[in-house]
Amino acid sequence: MNHLKRYASLDSFRLAAAFLIVAIHTSPLISMSAIADFILTRIIARVAVPFFFMVTGYFIYSHIEKKDTRYIIGFCKKLGITYLISVILYLPLNWYAGYFKNITVYQIVKDIIFDGTFYHLWYLPAAVLGVLIITGLLYKLKICGVLLISFLLYLIGLGGDSYYGLVVKADAVKGFYDLLFKVSSYTRNGIFFAPMFLALGVWIGHSKKQISKKLSITGFTLSIILLFIEGMLLYSFKLQRHDSMYIGLIPCMYFLFQFLLLKNGKSKKSLRSISLIIYIIHPWMIVLIRGFGKAVNLEKILINNSLVHFLGVSISSFLFAWVMVLIQTKLKKNEPSKTGRAWAEINLDALKDNAKELQNSLPDGCKLMAIVKANAYGHGDIRIARTLENEGVKVFGVATLAEGVGLRKNGIKGDILILGFTNPKDIDCLIKYCLMQTVLNYEYADTLNRSGKKIRVHIKLDTGMHRLGEDYNHFEELEGIYKMKNIIVDGIFTHLSVADSLKEEDIIYSKMQIEHYFKTVSYLKSKGYNPGKLHYQSSYGILNYKEPRCDYARIGIALYGILSNSNKTKTTLNLQPVMSVKARIALVRELSRNESVSYGRTFTSPKDMKIAVITIGYADGIPRSLSGESGYILIHDKKAPILGRICMDQLIVDVTEIKEVKPNDIATIIGKDGEEEIRCEDFAERCGTITNEILSRLGNRLEYIYQMK
Ligand SMILES: *Cc1c(COP(=O)(O)O)cnc(C)c1O
Repeated sequence: MNHLKRYASLDSFRLAAAFLIVAIHTSPLISMSAIADFILTRIIARVAVPFFFMVTGYFIYSHIEKKDTRYIIGFCKKLGITYLISVILYLPLNWYAGYFKNITVYQIVKDIIFDGTFYHLWYLPAAVLGVLIITGLLYKLKICGVLLISFLLYLIGLGGDSYYGLVVKADAVKGFYDLLFKVSSYTRNGIFFAPMFLALGVWIGHSKKQISKKLSITGFTLSIILLFIEGMLLYSFKLQRHDSMYIGLIPCMYFLFQFLLLKNGKSKKSLRSISLIIYIIHPWMIVLIRGFGKAVNLEKILINNSLVHFLGVSISSFLFAWVMVLIQTKLKKNEPSKTGRAWAEINLDALKDNAKELQNSLPDGCKLMAIVKANAYGHGDIRIARTLENEGVKVFGVATLAEGVGLRKNGIKGDILILGFTNPKDIDCLIKYCLMQTVLNYEYADTLNRSGKKIRVHIKLDTGMHRLGEDYNHFEELEGIYKMKNIIVDGIFTHLSVADSLKEEDIIYSKMQIEHYFKTVSYLKSKGYNPGKLHYQSSYGILNYKEPRCDYARIGIALYGILSNSNKTKTTLNLQPVMSVKARIALVRELSRNESVSYGRTFTSPKDMKIAVITIGYADGIPRSLSGESGYILIHDKKAPILGRICMDQLIVDVTEIKEVKPNDIATIIGKDGEEEIRCEDFAERCGTITNEILSRLGNRLEYIYQMK
């Protein structure tokens, strides 16, 4: 999947920007001409840091738009860890420079939040602070509002930076900035500098409008000339307190970024790591090269010649970064590749579309309770629940306590209802993780109540399934549960036993169950109890019995884009299968007439054949009952029948009719291959079961690949 990306040039420019930052800190032209150096490092190179902020804004926008707070926090955490490591990396230099001699708590706090503890590290806390500010603003305001606020902050920043000499002519203003500098040594920080360029990146990412090449080049040329004039004027009038903020930088960055987006190419991920490491490590290289120059008496060349010095620092930083990335990839290479043997591909976009389609099909006021039990029917419950939560799903259903706890530990915030039995001795765990428990019957409620701890529950009514639930007719017991001191009833529900069937007698049975359910609910209401949230439909419930309307619909299998079997349903929805299962061809071999295949010798070849061994078996969740006759998989868009018994780790197929099969080719067990498709419903039927069982039993040996646009 090496799609050409719009942002390939962004990756390349990261490297250029990293070298510009090295230039800012080494002044390559200073030994030749002070003014030339000023132009290079204090004007032109000033595009580097804003560029990094813009890239961040550009990529983070889609997550802010979706209010994906978890991603934003994760992103800031990563930056925070990078910052922490960098701070530690520079402790020795700080110590050597006497930083710790008269240090105060105030100084440390100021350094950590704004100044960065070492001269180049201010960028990392600024990025975190900027991202938090921009995210906060975007949660409340439209993009133009955020741009405006960021610009106003930037204007204040300009006053404390390049335009300082101009604005401090007014005493009040000077007082303001004096105060400001007590908190942060510069205004080019996370408040007055970063938001502007983050917002600019967000804006470009949001509008997706690409300006023409001509416009971006003209715009960039004009604005860099403006930037140059602005810089030179401020310089010659000696107005600058510091020199990283200019007005001209804003249009300049806008056009530069648009220009970089014009070229498609392969994205180069390693350049991202390399440029980050160069940025972090180059001050160390400066120190080391100086030390080395002195030690070998090459000061004249290595230090005093600023250009050689710059090159030395750049090359050594680059080499260091390159080796680090190499080591990192080497370490990763030693892990098995995910698509090496047998894997499941999970299409999260399909999941989102299904959730939308289902939610839209529900009557007003009825909310989707996403059932993510059994590892989200084998799809990976954490990823599935997170994706759904980001799409606005607020209630989840699981089967066991451990499943609920797992979701909570991984940050799922919505209500979680445990649909099955929880051992009453684990009640503290229910409370600690804020989980709602299903009340299985009166006796169970009584046990929970006696624990003396308040607990949120949904009562299950048995209306004819005769599995879990208090009998719908036991009004006295039900009232008793509502009266229990420690039982907080959040809802009451039932489950239909033949909702998937449209046979007349089954429809009559389901209607009777629904009637029983609502009769009991009405009774409880008439007695003055608030029954809580109502729900009785699962996937087939909403497809075959839309009315009466409830508060929740407990949707499992349909969320994953399939149904349990191929039975007809009253309504049909546009759902897409979320999972495909794939494996590799281990080898291709000839089979002569009358030779048998696999355990038990259940298949003997009627003629000379070509067969392939596929790297998936019943330990991966492919039922052994699929063996022989009925089963097939897809290879090169064609059906390949399964031969003989399915083994624990392999199965064998007939590829006589399929040309060009070779080892390592991909075989599709469930899903699409070209024009052909194996629907999970068909697959399950051939195994003599329903999709729910197939999916939930997929072995934990499969690798999971999550795909999203
Ligand atoms: C599993 C389960 C569901 C979900 O059923 P689907 O048919 O997969 O939608 C709903 N309610 C209860 C009580 C369940 O156990």
